[in-house]
Amino acid sequence: MKKREEVLLEDQWNVEALYSSQAAWEQALKTFVPHPQQKPHWPAFQAFQGTLQQGPERVKQALDLMMQIDRELSKLYTYAHLRHDEDITNPQFKKSYEQILTLAHSFAEESAWFQPELLTLPESQLQEYITSPVLTAYRFYLEQIVRLKPHTLSPDNEQLLALAGQALQTSHKAFSALNDADFKFGEVLDSQGVSKPLSHATYGLYIRDQDRVLRQNAFKQYHQQFAAYENTLSELLSGQTHNHILNARARHYQSSLEASVFPKNIDLSVYHALIQAVHERLDVLHRYMGLRKRILQLDELHLYDIYVPLTSAVDIHLAYPEAEQLVIESVKPLGTEYQELLRKGLQEQRWVDRYENQNKRSGAYSSGCYDSMPYILMNYKTLLRDVFTLAHEAGHSMHSLYSRKTQPYHYSDYSIFLAEVASTFNEDLLTRLLIERCQDPHEKIFLLNQKIEDIRATLFRQTMFAEFELLIHQLLEQGTPLTPQLLKEEYRKLNQLYFGPATVIDPEIEIEWARIPHFYYNFYVYQYATGISAALALAEKVVKGNEKDRDAYLAFLKGGSSKYPIEMLKMAGIDMTSPAPVKAAIQTFDQLLTELENLLDQVPAMR
Ligand SMILES: [Zn+2]
Repeated sequence: MKKREEVLLEDQWNVEALYSSQAAWEQALKTFVPHPQQKPHWPAFQAFQGTLQQGPERVKQALDLMMQIDRELSKLYTYAHLRHDEDITNPQFKKSYEQILTLAHSFAEESAWFQPELLTLPESQLQEYITSPVLTAYRFYLEQIVRLKPHTLSPDNEQLLALAGQALQTSHKAFSALNDADFKFGEVLDSQGVSKPLSHATYGLYIRDQDRVLRQNAFKQYHQQFAAYENTLSELLSGQTHNHILNARARHYQSSLEASVFPKNIDLSVYHALIQAVHERLDVLHRYMGLRKRILQLDELHLYDIYVPLTSAVDIHLAYPEAEQLVIESVKPLGTEYQELLRKGLQEQRWVDRYENQNKRSGAYSSGCYDSMPYILMNYKTLLRDVFTLAHEAGHSMHSLYSRKTQPYHYSDYSIFLAEVASTFNEDLLTRLLIERCQDPHEKIFLLNQKIEDIRATLFRQTMFAEFELLIHQLLEQGTPLTPQLLKEEYRKLNQLYFGPATVIDPEIEIEWARIPHFYYNFYVYQYATGISAALALAEKVVKGNEKDRDAYLAFLKGGSSKYPIEMLKMAGIDMTSPAPVKAAIQTFDQLLTELENLLDQVPAMR
């Protein structure tokens, strides 16, 4: 594998566009914080503390300065983190990266007084600030803070909660320690009697393997490890759930779900509409399971037969420039301006760091800051999966580009609720193009199956998780203890409901909840399901619709966080408080499934 210094310039991202050299970065850092040993680092900002009651002018000056510092910090941070990821063993870049993290932490500390001080002002004064013409640019920003006033405690109590917060991380940390470090999964045998190491990473591969014996052994042994610790794992999950409830009650929310969604102004109906819409159409998931059973020619479809591709992997390989070309072509429905911006970014401005090199960060992401181009880290290896990764990250990058170009700094990031919409949207466009052009029926089966699996795993599976998460919070809120027996029973019932009569619900699945890290994230998973639903509904609207639909979607991309996420999607024509978008996404699943069924009637699957 190449060393970093051997990578061709054209294959590297253009980090020099941020700072021309490491020396230039260091100089900028020195200008920004001349005396790193002295605290506060930003005495000018500190000077505003205790003065926010003086009037809107004063608040505006404080906010301007805060944003200016934050913006400069994020620029310095971006350069250091990109350089660090090019070669994570490079000591110079590692040092710079740690330096800037420490500085960012200092700024968080030095500006932590701002929000609590603002919220101690009387309600009438806060309303005066919000409507003041001086603060027009920050109106929505302030509204979001002031909205939390009824759920903000006295400074003493806030301090107490912050102190307790650290101690309350124990459940999550202990779960991670068990799951990531202490657990050993041993070895499993495949159908040839060959022993293979089992880990989180290999489990993901084995469960998709065409070798059924390997799948079954991996499934059983992997879950047995968690089952052996069911008492510990249920205590940890219960502890974390108690933690969410404590926070909700202390802050005067009706429920932990409300406490989680209220700050982003997401109505509870979004959560319930998702579950309801999925429940109404579980028949289509059951149908897919029936198809799996038929095509895989099984007497019984078990839960270790859910992930294996219906057709053996089709060998599609594309060199990077071809992938780039394909991704650019796929975004045609978004119009010439969008397409041209992306083309320039990929082919001229060098957004992408394309290939693996020694000690480069693995995986893929889209990054950048307000004062930079979007940057994409890839480890491109010519597989079709890699082309989809490029489409996905390009979707993020274009969302960032539009938002940063259009919004002021403080509204330029988009909310987590919206984060996966643009990326999933672009993956969908790529699937559409590939299926449209596909001549080979096996390739088409492969593409359709991949798309169906994406929707199954992101929409159906995550909604099942969301339902379980809601249930355990409600049980504990009502005073019912979360025993291993109760958790296993409820989890099995959900699996029966979701997978339906064609699937054998293996007893090992009852413990699956115990291995899902996201249950420690406080109502996070439903956003995967709402995200893909919004993306699929929007893609359908843009591809089949007119110029107005396209412009509405582009306006969404340009919106950043200048509105609440639900409002932002309404602008694009999607109402997530109604079940309609989820229903439409399931309708797409239904159509793809019908197409796959028809194709498989004509051509036998290759296995
Ligand atoms: Zn993503």
